[in-house]
Amino acid sequence: MCGVVGIWGSPKASLDVFQGLLLLQHRGQDAAGIIADDSDSGRFRLRKAMGQVSEAISAQALSELPGTSALGHTRYSTIGDVKTDDIQPLALTANVSLAGVHNGNLSNANQLRNSLRSQGRFLMTDNDLELLLHLVADGLQQNDSFEGLCQVVTRTMEQAEGGYACVMLWGARGMFAFKDPHGLRPLCLGKKDGAYALASESSALSFLGYTDQRELEAGELVWIDETGKLHSKKLKDVNKKSCFFEWVYFAGAESRMDHMGVYEARLRLGIALAKKIQAAKGIPEIDVVAPVPDTSRPAAAAIAEELRLPYREVLLKNRYVQRSFIMNGQEKRKQAVGLKFSVVEEQVRGKNVLLVDDSIVRGTTSRRLVELLKSHGAKSVVFASTCPPITHPCHYGIDFPTGKELIAHGRSIEAVKSELECDGLIYADLSDLSSGIGSDNLCLACLSGDYPYAIEAQA
Ligand code: AMP
Ligand code: SF4
Repeated sequence: MCGVVGIWGSPKASLDVFQGLLLLQHRGQDAAGIIADDSDSGRFRLRKAMGQVSEAISAQALSELPGTSALGHTRYSTIGDVKTDDIQPLALTANVSLAGVHNGNLSNANQLRNSLRSQGRFLMTDNDLELLLHLVADGLQQNDSFEGLCQVVTRTMEQAEGGYACVMLWGARGMFAFKDPHGLRPLCLGKKDGAYALASESSALSFLGYTDQRELEAGELVWIDETGKLHSKKLKDVNKKSCFFEWVYFAGAESRMDHMGVYEARLRLGIALAKKIQAAKGIPEIDVVAPVPDTSRPAAAAIAEELRLPYREVLLKNRYVQRSFIMNGQEKRKQAVGLKFSVVEEQVRGKNVLLVDDSIVRGTTSRRLVELLKSHGAKSVVFASTCPPITHPCHYGIDFPTGKELIAHGRSIEAVKSELECDGLIYADLSDLSSGIGSDNLCLACLSGDYPYAIEAQA
């Protein structure tokens, strides 16, 4: 999962991109980069490095990125280790000048890679974006019209399977963007004076002052041409399937995705979960409702309000500890979770605590937190998750591991509860998820195993 920003027609394009990326930092902290289209000198200028946005792009680097259009990316590696070669943006300049950023994963990347190699192509990275750039560059001519671009991107969509939200600079011909036919990954378009911006989340556009925002449709292509004219066309008409996990965990609470504010969706998920908690049998009488910071705060607050129970922040997050989720090795992950949270002991001692989290993936966080609260005197801990059991891996860009690493894979809720050693375990229902987000057009593959794009055998 990653964050992308594209700006066209702004005198300070790379600064806008930099600031937009700062707003999307939660979408990836492994590496970042910006490419600027310096049409005056006819070249792309690229700066990228490992680390968070402000580490990867220094003030000096930013000053070396002139031009009125630019793209930026903040990276969360979903496949393998973080490699310098794979940091985005990437560019190709042989037949046609193309630079790109994308968010997502192709589920047929191996097949596409093999096919390019069988044509004698050498690749520079293991990044799916390089494949998309080749597919687009293959058919595109520098003098193509919108119709020509539509044909090329349609063909790309027919070949590339998976979730992708892509923004590309096309030399001096402007900037274009497209989403996969099911529209799994988010991408929002905004306008300011004569300039256009695209970003993974609306919060970045709002901060930069871009208005008239709208989410790109599934399978849609938009092109802002060299004169600043916006062209758009839906190239594929299949069922839209937005990734539900954006609302549950990934997106910033201040963003809007499609029709629904993320904060609002999280409140609604909390309200639905409160009803299940109220109806649950055999759990201790709750004294206090507590969120696992930060994502589950709106849901926990809504649950406390619905159940008329005190809401307490009993866990404090140490923001300087590395993310536990992607640390390699289960032992390291466990240690990181322990370091990441401190307990406000007087708020838990002798209490029955209802701990609310957005999701349970491997169970590392929940298991460790139950243990931590009990070691600080909690009488009991009931765990509630606004996401139903995650039983299948994601192949479209979220770092859900293989099936066997998922705690709910092949286990009943009772069996997960005993693994977590908690005194009650309540998951949201699938129907609550769809009604909370207010959509029936969601990808739910990691909950149901019903994948919108075929999954190739793992290499
Ligand atoms: P786990 O500890 O493996 O069960 O992961 C669940 C915890 O990690 C929850 O507290 C979530 O807020 C958080 N989480 C869920 N998905 C992700 C993700 N893709 N990247 C980072 N953290 C996540
Ligand atoms: Fe999102 Fe799950 Fe679908 Fe992956 S499988 S895109 S995480 S809903």
